Amino acid sequence: MSAIQRRPLFGGNWKMHKVTADAEAYCAKLPGLVGESSAEIVIFPPAPLLRSVSAALRGSSIAVGGQDIHPDSAGAFTGDVSAVQLVDAGCRWALCGHSERRRDHGETDELIAGKGLAAVASGLSALICIGESAAEREAGRAFEVLERQLAGALAGRPEPFALAYEPVWAIGTGKTATPETAQETHEFIRDALSDLIGQAAAASKRIVYGGSVNPENAASLIAKRDIDGFLVGGASLDPDQFSAIIRSCGS
Ligand code: PEP
Repeated sequence: MSAIQRRPLFGGNWKMHKVTADAEAYCAKLPGLVGESSAEIVIFPPAPLLRSVSAALRGSSIAVGGQDIHPDSAGAFTGDVSAVQLVDAGCRWALCGHSERRRDHGETDELIAGKGLAAVASGLSALICIGESAAEREAGRAFEVLERQLAGALAGRPEPFALAYEPVWAIGTGKTATPETAQETHEFIRDALSDLIGQAAAASKRIVYGGSVNPENAASLIAKRDIDGFLVGGASLDPDQFSAIIRSCGS
């Protein structure tokens, strides 16, 4: 794979945390903490906070994204949010296929493919999440699972997109993949991506790692060739921690 410069990408997935006052305090602090970062930084707040976070970060270089979207642009889908509505709320990104959505809402690779297409059709970038469970890794099936998830999620060839490799066993557990395991897996994903979209396109794509990233382990992970940033859950809830992760990566 050719040595190509990929702009680091850092996502902060707040999951179902924070209310307006917390979000405003956070957004008042984060831009100053990250300063003139060369990285692309995206906060993924829960849906009710999207508009206030977008407003609070306006004028900064930090973007906002939705944690999920429905594949349709409007309709009788109680509780769901469309890509059009995310754009209307000031979003530039959408997470697609986070493992908590796959686990708790039965999201399939096919549905996730539809979400990715809906995102890009509305002008959003899709951050598509893939990752194997502990049982799948222990059974030696991690690569087979990742290849299936990747091909499924990219079936409609969304563009633009980035990938998040998030081993389920590392999310919120404090068990981070070692830099060697993460690199080996990211390299596998990039090769599989190359088979799908071609080598040059695959070489240009950001593949970020997610799973218990914190200011202590971030630098050793991002030092690896195929790790282009992070999707951070727990440690993104605190602006000091999230910015420390970004700064520890030299971004
Ligand atoms: C996530 O939710 O995407 C995530 C990686 O969570 P954590 O950093 O808490 O493991």
